[in-house]
Amino acid sequence: MLIINNLEVSIGKINILQSISFKVSKFSSVIGRNGAGKTTLMRAIMNILPSQSGYIQFQKKTLNNFKTYNMSKLGIGYMPEDRRLVPDLSVKDNIMIPLWSLNKKNSNDQFEEVLSFIPELKDFLSRQAFQLSGGQQKLVALARAMIVGKNLLLLDEPFEGVAPALAERLVELISSLNKDNLITLITESDESFSKKIKANIIRIERGKIYN
Ligand code: ATP
Repeated sequence: MLIINNLEVSIGKINILQSISFKVSKFSSVIGRNGAGKTTLMRAIMNILPSQSGYIQFQKKTLNNFKTYNMSKLGIGYMPEDRRLVPDLSVKDNIMIPLWSLNKKNSNDQFEEVLSFIPELKDFLSRQAFQLSGGQQKLVALARAMIVGKNLLLLDEPFEGVAPALAERLVELISSLNKDNLITLITESDESFSKKIKANIIRIERGKIYN
């Protein structure tokens, strides 16, 4: 279970997230308008942004005590809203990045597993990330999150700004992630796709959770 308890996050002097508390046991979506605090919440869970108070717990471990680069050791994968691929690296290397710190012997098997889940990646594996379209970059960012995200997947606005055909494909892919041992938290500015993937809805507005 992912537990967020009384989380407060400020950026500079501005208090962005206020007393955020909720639990995710399976497949949930945080819905809020632009500027509501969704990305700030995801970045706080990944400890990219420090929390001023409260805590984030996953499988009884307090994530606030883990460095971002150690999240992969806990089986946590993150797809940022703006993708954050390394432009000069190949698609394959971008997907493999989270495994580099893990010294995994079976990394090729894991790569093949991701490829079989998103076979369209095969069409542009050897290209550098900067040569891809925005939609293709979304798929690579999803693959990079999945390759380590065996326990918790955080997908920040996966449907944002993608063409309708790709959005439908993402619905199909993300829906099939709804497995017993995987907890998935996504964000969306309205609930249209979250309803399609049958996520439990959590609402955020001006940095506060409303249920
Ligand atoms: P969007 O869908 O537009 O990305 P969001 O729900 O993800 O929206 P956040 O990006 O988390 O929202 O932003 C929440 C609030 O924090 C906004 O009011 C935003 O202006 C503010 N904010 C975010 N990043 C910074 C920053 N680096 N400096 C100052 N304020 C920031």
